[in-house]
Amino acid sequence: MKNLLVMKFGGTSVGSAGRMRVSAGLAAAEQKKRPVAIVVSAMSKVTDLLLDTMRHAEAGNRNVMESNLTLLRQRHEEACRELLPPAEQGAVLAQLHDVIDEFERIVNGMAMLGERPPRSVDEAVAVGERLSTVLVSEFLRANGTPSVGVNAREVVVTDAVFGNASPLMEPTRAKARKKLLPYLEQGLLPVITGFNGASADGRPTTLGRGGSDFSASILAAALDAAELWIWTDVDGIMSADPRLVPDAQVLEEMEAAELAYNGAKVLHPRTLAPLVEKKIPVWSKNSFAPEKPGTRIVPSMAVPQGARAVASMRNVALVSLEPASAEMNGVHLMARSLDAIARADVEVLVVSSSSYRQNFCFLVREEELERSLQALESALALELAHHYVHPIQVDRNVGLLAAVGEGMQGKPGLAGRIFTAISRVQVNIIAIAQGSSELTIAVVVRRDGLEKAVKAVHAECGLGIRPPVPVFPFGQSEGRAPRGKQ
Ligand code: ADP
Ligand code: ASP
Ligand code: MG
Repeated sequence: MKNLLVMKFGGTSVGSAGRMRVSAGLAAAEQKKRPVAIVVSAMSKVTDLLLDTMRHAEAGNRNVMESNLTLLRQRHEEACRELLPPAEQGAVLAQLHDVIDEFERIVNGMAMLGERPPRSVDEAVAVGERLSTVLVSEFLRANGTPSVGVNAREVVVTDAVFGNASPLMEPTRAKARKKLLPYLEQGLLPVITGFNGASADGRPTTLGRGGSDFSASILAAALDAAELWIWTDVDGIMSADPRLVPDAQVLEEMEAAELAYNGAKVLHPRTLAPLVEKKIPVWSKNSFAPEKPGTRIVPSMAVPQGARAVASMRNVALVSLEPASAEMNGVHLMARSLDAIARADVEVLVVSSSSYRQNFCFLVREEELERSLQALESALALELAHHYVHPIQVDRNVGLLAAVGEGMQGKPGLAGRIFTAISRVQVNIIAIAQGSSELTIAVVVRRDGLEKAVKAVHAECGLGIRPPVPVFPFGQSEGRAPRGKQ
């Protein structure tokens, strides 16, 4: 299939009938020029609603379950009525109800058992994407773009790590091509559910929160697409989270490796992996302003430019360990601890150690904290019981900030300037880690100071949008030293 374009529309890009109309329009316009396949997320907030319903089902709160189900129905019925002509609404509403009834059966089962088995959660949570897929594909069809809805369970094959599955690329490639290429050859536009897949033996799985980006890249790689466009609600990848830093600016280009750190919130962190080998170009674009160029994600940049963005994470926790006896070697303690948490499938975001007291700390996502602690407590059960190791300390009042960019080590004094900028705004630095890859300088700070620290580092590195140079009478403009990058 030559010149295939895969597009992915995030939750806000399909968040209402109006947004679906715009997104479907963007896909239909491109499809006039070349083959297009699209991957869609659930309507915004729907995944949260589904997960909330399941938590309440497990706890036996039938009232909340019922009111959530009503909301789910109303939201999709309303979109259906706005999107489709009256004569077609009945059939589409019936499809939506079938999917919602399936969800209802699963949550009723959870309520009865008082349990939320991960496998059932994955089957149920994919309902959000199935519903938006029905709406977008039916809308396209009704408006003259022949389209077909596809449940990614039929095309994305994964391992059986429920809630955070990884794709198995070979079988995915075989299945995706077998199912999707004939549609594309017939001139149909496939609309595929993001976020979900199934294990080789057919059990439903999901790819982790925000996983629709990953779905799109898996499918782009499997279909040997010419390009992947990821549509979201901001103008591209920016020099910082625009919700924290109002003068954050859109980056024209972002290197894939930098993105793994900076993009975590805009793009699912594993998104690029399937595309790197095939060198498939990726764009991050704004479906609310499609005329803007967006950010092009490139394999590597011609000239390393030093700090280019400030990434931040709020919901993290710092875990500290320290030997309590001379018999316990600090390096062994660190090796065993990291091994235990890696086996629990927890991603360590930062590690920092002190050779003098042989203590060390590492940062994990808050939602993975419980799993980390369980893994550590079981791996170090004897040492903790016999007081060879001090009790494990946890600090939840922390946030992570990372200056990201290639070639930062080549900028003397940059680390010092970053630390000074943070202390100038009176935020406590708790831990520091500089990767040997030159890509990040990571700083753990008190959580309530995170926003201030991000703003300070962003300004110190000269990353904000520059104010326009004021024009003075007689055509003179005031000479102002430009704030260079760094
Ligand atoms: P989607 O539903 O389209 O996948 P997400 O909510 O997952 O969208 O990601 C887009 C959001 O990420 C933006 O609205 C923005 O607030 C946030 N964000 C955080 N950091 C950045 C950044 N560096 N650049 C752009 N957006 C960012
Ligand atoms: N709907 C899923 C989520 O909210 C996947 C996605 O939007 O990427 O996590
Ligand atoms: Mg997302």
